[in-house]
Amino acid sequence: MIRDPKHVARLLDSTRNFVRDVAIPNEERVERENAIPEEIVAQMRKLGFFGWSIPEEYGGAGLTTEELCLANMEISQCAVAYRARAGTNTGIGAEAIIQDGTEEQKRKYLPRLATGEITGCLAVTEPEAGSDLLGGLATTAVEDGDHYVLNGTKRYITNAPLADIFTVLTRSDPANKGGSGTTSFLVERATPGLSTGPEHKKMGQEGSPVSEVYFKDCRVPKSAVLGGVPGQGFRAVMKSLNKQRINLASLCTGPAIRLLDEALRHATTRKQSGKAIGEFQLVQAMLADCKVEISAARALILETARKRDLGEDVTMEVSMCKYYASEMAGRVADRVVQIFGGAGYCEDIGGSVPRFYRDVRLFRLYEGTSQIHQLNIARHLLRGER
Ligand SMILES: Cc1cc2nc3c(=O)[nH]c(=O)nc-3n(C[C@H](O)[C@H](O)[C@H](O)COP(=O)(O)OP(=O)(O)OC[C@H]3O[C@@H](n4cnc5c(N)ncnc54)[C@H](O)[C@@H]3O)c2cc1C
Repeated sequence: MIRDPKHVARLLDSTRNFVRDVAIPNEERVERENAIPEEIVAQMRKLGFFGWSIPEEYGGAGLTTEELCLANMEISQCAVAYRARAGTNTGIGAEAIIQDGTEEQKRKYLPRLATGEITGCLAVTEPEAGSDLLGGLATTAVEDGDHYVLNGTKRYITNAPLADIFTVLTRSDPANKGGSGTTSFLVERATPGLSTGPEHKKMGQEGSPVSEVYFKDCRVPKSAVLGGVPGQGFRAVMKSLNKQRINLASLCTGPAIRLLDEALRHATTRKQSGKAIGEFQLVQAMLADCKVEISAARALILETARKRDLGEDVTMEVSMCKYYASEMAGRVADRVVQIFGGAGYCEDIGGSVPRFYRDVRLFRLYEGTSQIHQLNIARHLLRGER
């Protein structure tokens, strides 16, 4: 739902300007330095990028799902690392606090997450707990007076090397293997016993740091239990991932839009056999397939966002969005490399195209692999939902 079209148009314009004037000209620097330069992060803070999804009463923009998706489709038209820098604050690193935090937890963290003063992250995945988060969950939280003591390892945690506040899923009741045996905690970086590992060396998305997180006899007060109630950890994480899936689907769309722009530029300037390659019908077919798939993803995402804003249950639809948009981005990137020919494979000649090809590969893996979303969609269908 769009509340005020003029306000949203201004937000989209300022995001577009940032992408064109600041982000794209600095993409190679971000890749080379493997970090977003601090002066650019400062601009992102000033533009409010860190607080898009945080409610207005806690200092954010309080965007509706539809507004957030539209903004995401703009910010993601530059190197993925930019939106990943702000993305945990306006996504998985804040969402559990927004949806399930106590009033005290909201007041303590959300205003600073909204301005980007602090960075949040969600630490759920473990070496033995990936797609089966619950079955493999080995990080423990043991009650000890007014505290809990956390032990375990989290893996592949986006922004962990930078994060100030970690939302952490643990098994708090070893006898209960279900969701009600889990508790989520809000653990501050300075807490003794919390440490982060070196950055994972990734295939792409340079500038978006990801690492392991270690808990070794890490004592946290009971006030750090998310929502103040133990036994709700898994439920809270799944609720925030449910929102995040449509968020991520819209973030898959921007790279595809940008790649198609690059492909069109190349198709009209690159000549072979005396003609622009865009005059060859087989190249035209690839361009057309990209356009159709981008438009289909956009339509599905915005329709689902509107339904979510109306309070409808969109659990199946968000899986459809995440599955389709992430696979679509992979297919678009592959076709655009094809349209670029050898240049699409050579980083020094192909510009952003080879980088996007590597960057978008991750979309099909995190926040539920494609297979997990296929299963999810089929489960809903077999239950009789249409
Ligand atoms: C760069 C990066 C950033 C990430 N950021 C975060 C983060 O911020 N926070 C966080 O908590 N996690 C994060 N993750 C973790 C991510 O969500 C997991 O990697 C993902 O959920 C898959 O888990 P896995 O890697 O253990 O793969 P596995 O679960 O081992 O899956 C391996 C393969 O088996 C398939 N498979 C597994 N189970 C089934 C099944 N039941 N049916 C059919 N096929 C199945 C999968 O689809 C996949 O193809 C990140 C990962 C990466 C790589």
